Amino acid sequence: MILRGWLSRRRRRWPGGARKVQVLRRTLQLLVLALLFAIPTLSLYDNLRNQRDEVGIQSRWDTRLVHRLVADLEEPKALTQAVRGSVWTFKAGELVISDPLAVVDFVAASRVPWDRFLITALLPVLLSLLLGRVFCGWLCPADLLFELAGKARNWAGIKTDVTFSRGTKTAVLAAGVVAAVILGNQVFAEIYPPRIVGAELYLWITFGTFGAGAWFFLALIAFEIFVSRRFWCRYVCPGGALYALLGRYRLLRLEVDPVACTECRLCNVSCELGLDPMGGRFGQDCNNCGLCVRACGHDALNWRLGLPPSGGVDRLGHPESGVAAATPGEPAP
Ligand code: SF4
Ligand code: SF4
Repeated sequence: MILRGWLSRRRRRWPGGARKVQVLRRTLQLLVLALLFAIPTLSLYDNLRNQRDEVGIQSRWDTRLVHRLVADLEEPKALTQAVRGSVWTFKAGELVISDPLAVVDFVAASRVPWDRFLITALLPVLLSLLLGRVFCGWLCPADLLFELAGKARNWAGIKTDVTFSRGTKTAVLAAGVVAAVILGNQVFAEIYPPRIVGAELYLWITFGTFGAGAWFFLALIAFEIFVSRRFWCRYVCPGGALYALLGRYRLLRLEVDPVACTECRLCNVSCELGLDPMGGRFGQDCNNCGLCVRACGHDALNWRLGLPPSGGVDRLGHPESGVAAATPGEPAP
């Protein structure tokens, strides 16, 4: 009770406003994409350099650029091998960070309950416990591309939006775990968009080609544009489901000020995930992206540090379950 009281008094307005939050968010998303581009480029450069293939290095703009940056260094490999991996498992020097879904996939497929590999997911797990589904809204490279698809959809004026149960993604997560245990093989890696984006960039940079993942991803983008808005992240992604479960009792959460709110619904329209920020029903699916905060012209949405509302009701008196309310026309889970 004391903790809840202390935390609920800690309301925060983000210094500099909602627009700066979006600039920061976009910068982080672009940095992740740039990193996914840089990792295979550095690896390719290393290979060409090991083969003393000067012509190969000079024949590409990216390896030429790396060469310019590292050619005069005493230890070029300290730079070219500084970062490795992908969003599935990322290595920077001695630090290894894994997506919690990669760890779940590994444990299920290997049927080994404990391995040192599990420790590599500790940081993202802690961040999700504190900040909720922020990987989705702030770091996932696929999210950025899905958001662009959403903008294309708005631009084209497409209104069709087939909805499904939000609980589907939790069922996909559970089914994937069972399948991995039975098959003894990891199953999520092949269908997880952030990993697919990294793997396809690797193929393109290293071999100049794309694999099946690129077609899968393109099909998803087309489906989101023409059939169902943000289909993958709202209803299917096992990683999104895992992050949502971890962030169910997050400390950083939005709240709506019912006095300042004019019920214009601009926040609800802006929410990519189809949540109900105006009604104060963020549920476990909210990724703290802040798009609704920026859309509100009345400063009625703000972040606060705290546990879910005591008594478990939102501003409308509905139970604030872990899963957000269905938006009109969308079946509740
Ligand atoms: S739900 Fe999946 S694809 Fe969507 S942002 Fe989250 S991790 Fe990325
Ligand atoms: S409710 Fe707001 S912060 Fe949460 S996902 Fe929707 S737009 Fe983003």
